[in-house]
Amino acid sequence: MNGLDGTEKRGIKELGAEKLVGWDEVEQGVVINSFEGDATGVANVHAENRNYSDFNSYTATVASWRVIKPVYNRDYCIDCQNCWVWCPDSSIISRDKQMLGIDYDHCKGCQVCSEVCPTNPKSLLMFLEATENDEALAGWPEKKEKEK
Ligand code: SF4
Ligand code: SF4
Repeated sequence: MNGLDGTEKRGIKELGAEKLVGWDEVEQGVVINSFEGDATGVANVHAENRNYSDFNSYTATVASWRVIKPVYNRDYCIDCQNCWVWCPDSSIISRDKQMLGIDYDHCKGCQVCSEVCPTNPKSLLMFLEATENDEALAGWPEKKEKEK
């Protein structure tokens, strides 16, 4: 998926950022730029095309924090964008109002997206981090009938 899935290694070690000072060593009043160069209009640029500096959290992965992860099932999704609106970590990838999947580099596994997904069955469900996505999709639950 367009270079945004969780396969890239963008952690501290890969960036060589161990050599940078830690958060508790930064002097008061110092300016830490989130972007390299001119950032005019950056809010209108998709995250993967922004010129982030090494100090920006976008360049680091937090995937190792997760115990459970959301798996996305396109078969049931109605592109309502609820998950995109509610995700506290901007980890739902949506373009032109079409849900594309999860940014596993930044998703922390909080489950909010799964909770707010309105479809039956849900189009986002939580699985143990070690579960393969194909395995999760193969065992997706059936539609629940309404109680009479
Ligand atoms: S589990 Fe939480 S952080 Fe991950 S995509 Fe869903 S809402 Fe976002
Ligand atoms: S909340 Fe569910 S149905 Fe709506 S866009 Fe997200 S995955 Fe699709």
